[in-house]
Amino acid sequence: MAPSATDIITNNYDVLSLKDKDYVDTISVSDYESGAETVKYGGKTPKEMIGAALQKHIDTVDPQDCEPGDEDAFFVADLGEVYRQHMRWKQQLPRITPHFAVKCNPDPGLLRLLDKLGAGFDCASKAEIDQVRAMGVDPARIIYANPCKTTSYLKRTVKTGVKQMTFDNTDELYKIKHIYPTAELFLRICTDDSASLCRLSNKFGASMDKVPQLLALAKELGLDVAGVAFHVGSGASDPDAFRKAIVDARSVFDQAAVLGYQLHTLDCGGGFTSDTFDDMSAVLAEAVDKEFPPHVRIIAEPGRFYTSSAFTLACNVIARRTVEADNLGGNTSYMLYMNDGVYGNFSSIIFDHQHPVPRVLRSQSCVDGYKYSTIPESLVDSGYGSDADGTFAHPREKKAITYSIWGPTCDGIDCISSEWYSTETLDIGDWLYFEDMGAYTMCSATKFNGFPDKHKTIYVCSEPAAAGFVEPYTRV
Ligand SMILES: *Cc1c(COP(=O)(O)O)cnc(C)c1O
Repeated sequence: MAPSATDIITNNYDVLSLKDKDYVDTISVSDYESGAETVKYGGKTPKEMIGAALQKHIDTVDPQDCEPGDEDAFFVADLGEVYRQHMRWKQQLPRITPHFAVKCNPDPGLLRLLDKLGAGFDCASKAEIDQVRAMGVDPARIIYANPCKTTSYLKRTVKTGVKQMTFDNTDELYKIKHIYPTAELFLRICTDDSASLCRLSNKFGASMDKVPQLLALAKELGLDVAGVAFHVGSGASDPDAFRKAIVDARSVFDQAAVLGYQLHTLDCGGGFTSDTFDDMSAVLAEAVDKEFPPHVRIIAEPGRFYTSSAFTLACNVIARRTVEADNLGGNTSYMLYMNDGVYGNFSSIIFDHQHPVPRVLRSQSCVDGYKYSTIPESLVDSGYGSDADGTFAHPREKKAITYSIWGPTCDGIDCISSEWYSTETLDIGDWLYFEDMGAYTMCSATKFNGFPDKHKTIYVCSEPAAAGFVEPYTRV
């Protein structure tokens, strides 16, 4: 088959590793020849490309004989998936400009793609602002969306040219008056976030009865109130929360107008998930059009929606403990210890209430070894007794082995799954993979116990249309 631009991007991938925010270890695309096996080092579907990247990397690692760190957990990021999410956004929310919430996933390759796609950025700290500014992003595309800002950071922000920022209390208004009186302010209001995964309105957002006082004080201080912001909670599930927040926001616009303000921007925050996006976006788009005339600029701050499904994490089994069968006729089970855990990229278990699903990536107990599945997720044996289409019976019926899965630290809380089943006999040196690891994972990892908080990311791009946006990564 004659090579075409499409083949080049879909059959190959660049490998980048992340050290001190620089790319190193770039492997040229010519290293990636399609192998004879189905998935090995090639593939056209997104899953095949991710599988190929996973295999290619772990083939270079012999966990029994490698340098410390070579067997570390690593990510495969499919930038094509980020692009597809962006297209969904553009299609369903054409009026709303996304400002990606950097806290969700500050991966540099991801941020560069989003920059090229024309997204703005929601930053909450000096480091986040610096990271985005260092990419050359226009300060007008950045919103400092933290209603309670560190004074020294705010002073620095003056120099960066970032003007848009949120506030939700009177003390912050005095602070801003003192340090950055020309800032463009967005009044953050609280929302009903009771149906969300991670609530935010218990911490931030002015209640509607505080709005008159805040607007009046801003006026008295001569500050520039430019808009309204809200967040319905991360992992939101109630479209009505958006509807109510939009109505409240409209009321703030009206109240501000009475004081002589002409608010021009509404910031709808984040909270979107891939699964509920279609329903939520339909409600949001309708509510926005109903309450706000076309000249009002509408932005949002999605995080999870863009990144969750784009990142797959592979972890190495570093130790195994055999739990002997009990006298009652139970089967042998194992405790597996991996080199990543809740103090690392699985911080999402604690902070983001996630239940990552382990899947076997390579098991030395089978001939070819690779187990990465390219069939749709819903049909893959999750190891939790799913019998989606009858292909995978309940583990007990198949005499599957019971495992518990642990992270590497010395803390008993460092448990990824207390009960998981597989028909594979997993041993030290084997690999597991976890999908949907792109939101609130690496960003909240720690160095606890001396284990690394930074992990290599291998990028693939499964979307030919995104090829032009995914720059050829080069050695820095
Ligand atoms: C966390 C956060 C976001 C992103 O939320 P998602 O649920 O990931 O979309 C957006 N805006 C603010 C102010 C946040 O704190």
